[in-house]
Amino acid sequence: MSTILIIEDEARIAGFIGKGLKAAGFTSHATASGAEGATLAVHGNFDLVILDVGLPDIDGFEVLERIRGQGVAVPVIMLTARSSVADRVAGLESGADDYMPKPFSFEELLARIRLRLRSEAQPAGQSATQLSHNGLVLDFRTRKAQVDGTWVDLSAREFTLAETFLRNPGQVLSREQLLSNVWGFDFDPGSNVVDVYVRYLRGKLGKDRFETVRGMGYRLV
Ligand code: CA
Repeated sequence: MSTILIIEDEARIAGFIGKGLKAAGFTSHATASGAEGATLAVHGNFDLVILDVGLPDIDGFEVLERIRGQGVAVPVIMLTARSSVADRVAGLESGADDYMPKPFSFEELLARIRLRLRSEAQPAGQSATQLSHNGLVLDFRTRKAQVDGTWVDLSAREFTLAETFLRNPGQVLSREQLLSNVWGFDFDPGSNVVDVYVRYLRGKLGKDRFETVRGMGYRLV
């Protein structure tokens, strides 16, 4: 069973996350203090950390710096009400694995948590920081893709979508699977957002990489 640390000072939000995690079969521990959270993340043997940016003592970025500064690679998902580019860049530089802009649905957060925990349990032949298939590499530190030796910038959604394909090479993934994995379970199943984003990935990573399987979904070639 995975144990998750919640560093969040708003009791309502920490409670909402804790209850949802319990229902989903996880154990969690919450703290409202950034300094205590950093110490727990380093010494507490947690499988994943959910970290709020706005905390009463030290902010989430500093918490993250303390964790990474101790050489601890536990996956960290940051919660932020601020969606500014500067914050995202600061977070990535301090080593966050993912973001969840507030407000969010619990299902959306759970999908991210599961994705992060799965990416820790690496399949054979994959490094902890990269996934690769057929000349395509995804780098989790820089959140960039490499196509035949050239680095390509991806948006957060594009990256998560590409990651879903790379974790299931050669398998047909339905629109519903991709929607729930990348956008969370609350998304309207009639939405064409998956098709739009597959088109973006084809434009950036090569048009023949993502095959349309008529009536079924998409497949990474
Ligand atoms: Ca807060």
